[in-house]
Amino acid sequence: MTARKKGLGINTQLVHAGERGAPPNGKPVSTPVYASATFTYDSMAEVDQVFAGEQQGYIYTRYGNPTVAALEEAVRVLEEGAAACAYSSGMAALHAAIFACELTPGAAILTSQDLYGATIDLLYKIFGSYGIKIATMDFSATEALRAKALEIRPQVLIAETISNPLLKVCDVAACAEIAREVGARFIVDNTFTSPYLCKPLKHGADFSVHSATKYLSGHADVMGGVVVARDELDLPTLIGVMKLVGGILGVWEAHQIHRGLKTLSVRMDRQCDNALRLANHLEKHEDVSRVYYPALAPSQDQVTMKRTLRPTHFGGLVSIELRQNTREAAFRFMDALTLCVRSTSLGDVFTGVLHPATASHRDVAPKRRLQLGITEGLVRISVGIEDIADIIEDIEQALEKSSR
Ligand code: PLP
Repeated sequence: MTARKKGLGINTQLVHAGERGAPPNGKPVSTPVYASATFTYDSMAEVDQVFAGEQQGYIYTRYGNPTVAALEEAVRVLEEGAAACAYSSGMAALHAAIFACELTPGAAILTSQDLYGATIDLLYKIFGSYGIKIATMDFSATEALRAKALEIRPQVLIAETISNPLLKVCDVAACAEIAREVGARFIVDNTFTSPYLCKPLKHGADFSVHSATKYLSGHADVMGGVVVARDELDLPTLIGVMKLVGGILGVWEAHQIHRGLKTLSVRMDRQCDNALRLANHLEKHEDVSRVYYPALAPSQDQVTMKRTLRPTHFGGLVSIELRQNTREAAFRFMDALTLCVRSTSLGDVFTGVLHPATASHRDVAPKRRLQLGITEGLVRISVGIEDIADIIEDIEQALEKSSR
């Protein structure tokens, strides 16, 4: 700021004083929050060069921001991808990844039947309204999947690394091979596993997508999403969606997610260990008729699990079906919990419970829900980092109350 002879008026000082000083001497050890919508340069020639892409630099936060870029780089490194782009939510990230597949009019998308409900809605209601055809099927039946893919020639395949809420592990490598055979792009929603448990791009997927709201951030205090691409050529389209649709990740959120990310492995080690112990405990419980957990899956599914997930880590989610398989019993059980939180999310430091039939799969027709195995007495537990004895005690007392 250059002062005039008489000095600046107070209104001018209020706006400019202290701003745009030289960068500090000494690098901050954590990326600062660049809470700035725009960036300035010493000359218009420089601005012009940055706009033209001839010089690296930031112009406008919807086009890119250093705090967000630091998070993108961290997730890119963890996923071993070529490029990453962050968005305001997991849904915005999924939309961007599908858009980056550059679907042509009348194209088909083939998806796993047990995708997150909002993803199915996104496909039918948004992409479907532009004439894209959607087909769903059980991705674990790989031969049937290959036959279907050869029949309908989809341009995109979509799966989740662990299905919701029945926690079936996807054979990412086998699905990627089928996608390659039919010339389709393969998007994997890696939210349930995070790159600590699974790196879909290494198994041949084209995009790994995250709701960063879940395990990446881990504290239920922020929303965000990230797409990591295997091929750098996809970056311009991912950036294009960010710039033009505008669902960008805020700088404060990026900072919080990046901070959460630093403890991802520590949290997930405990969450997976707690989940395994809880699953083993509940498997023998008289008030529970069925426990869904990858480590307890039939042996043929364990082969897939072993080649897809980190050995000894089976995820932090456990789903249980109550012996009294009714909505009333499930609600009684959930209402009786005093430590575990009734919460519509997952991957947090605390243990959270969700009733799929009335939450994630509420909009699925009851008959279809039953076909998928999602019964009224099914409860999904996202296991936290608390002491396992406390989690078990809370669940035990709630099961006792609900079964009376
Ligand atoms: N993908 C999965 C597997 C999810 O469970 C969710 C949300 O629950 C999403 C995507 C959407 O993420 P967000 O709520 O951050 O938009």
